[in-house]
Amino acid sequence: MDRIDLRSDTVTKPTRAMREAMLDAEVGDDVYGEDPTVIALQERLARDLGFEAGLFAPSGTQANLLALLAHCQRGDEYIVGMEAHTYKFEGGGAAVLGSIQPQPIVQAEDGTLPLAIVESAIKPVDPHFARTKILCLENTWHGRVLPRTYLAEARALCDRRGLKLHLDGARLYNAAVADGVAPREIAKHFDSVSVCLSKGLGAPVGSVLVGSRALIDDARRWRKVAGGGWRQAGLLAAAGLHALDHHVERLADDHRRAKTLADGLQGLKHVTVAGQQTNMVFIDVPKDKLDAFRKHMDAAGIRMSIGYLPRIRMVTHLDIDDAGIERAIAAFRSFG
Ligand SMILES: *Cc1c(COP(=O)(O)O)cnc(C)c1O
Repeated sequence: MDRIDLRSDTVTKPTRAMREAMLDAEVGDDVYGEDPTVIALQERLARDLGFEAGLFAPSGTQANLLALLAHCQRGDEYIVGMEAHTYKFEGGGAAVLGSIQPQPIVQAEDGTLPLAIVESAIKPVDPHFARTKILCLENTWHGRVLPRTYLAEARALCDRRGLKLHLDGARLYNAAVADGVAPREIAKHFDSVSVCLSKGLGAPVGSVLVGSRALIDDARRWRKVAGGGWRQAGLLAAAGLHALDHHVERLADDHRRAKTLADGLQGLKHVTVAGQQTNMVFIDVPKDKLDAFRKHMDAAGIRMSIGYLPRIRMVTHLDIDDAGIERAIAAFRSFG
């Protein structure tokens, strides 16, 4: 039986056309700066998002880490959401590897960090305190698109208080498509942005960090230090370029399918839809039904993310079609 894998948009497999683009890629040694396809990908994302330079990295975790290492010194601090990827899901990398202290803030329901609380967390310049250097936001967060007015206010706060502003834009393109704006309209508020190619965009590997030339030069050095200097990575960059050409507008299909899924689950006895935004659906199942629910969905071949987040999460992506959504809804309906 074919499984419908709604755990994450990372599970997509490269399409035939993407594999062909990879086969045809011109490559060189990227540590020497000689891979034309890597260079093309970095320049393309920098240009599209309105920055001077870009850096191709193996993962979003590393792209965020490189941003923090490049923006901060030992003993600096970043303000970040308590449920943000850059705080909670990256193994504490900035602290472990950069001696950079996180200052987590409880996120509001909409994924914003309330700016009055952010401001009150900025430490005075005094030997007692870490030096507050940067604010990190995430967009989308749990599928939610941060309001653009909020981004402008966060930028104004950072300017007023002398902080940098970084975006974990793993799903920046989902935010842009959902908002109906060019991604640079979101990116323009930030000093640096990381974007995942391996989520909804469907590439097998890779993220790109964009920022100023000086920041990216620093980040490139840290990437080498972290063991991320790669060689003929143009094979992978070609997949990223293909994704940017062919898989951006179709994110709207993922959003539509997530909505169909959420709508299809309304009124069920044991399942409450806790929210749907962009390509994600969150649900609650009562604790005493959870075991039975898990077994039932597993037998029906429907996979979802249970246990990583406070709620059960389902994510639509390139490899989920309308029939898959119908099958998932049918499996839910037969539970109970
Ligand atoms: C997936 C993700 C990342 C990076 O993850 P990798 O698996 O390291 O590529 C960063 N931030 C968010 C919000 C993500 O969803």
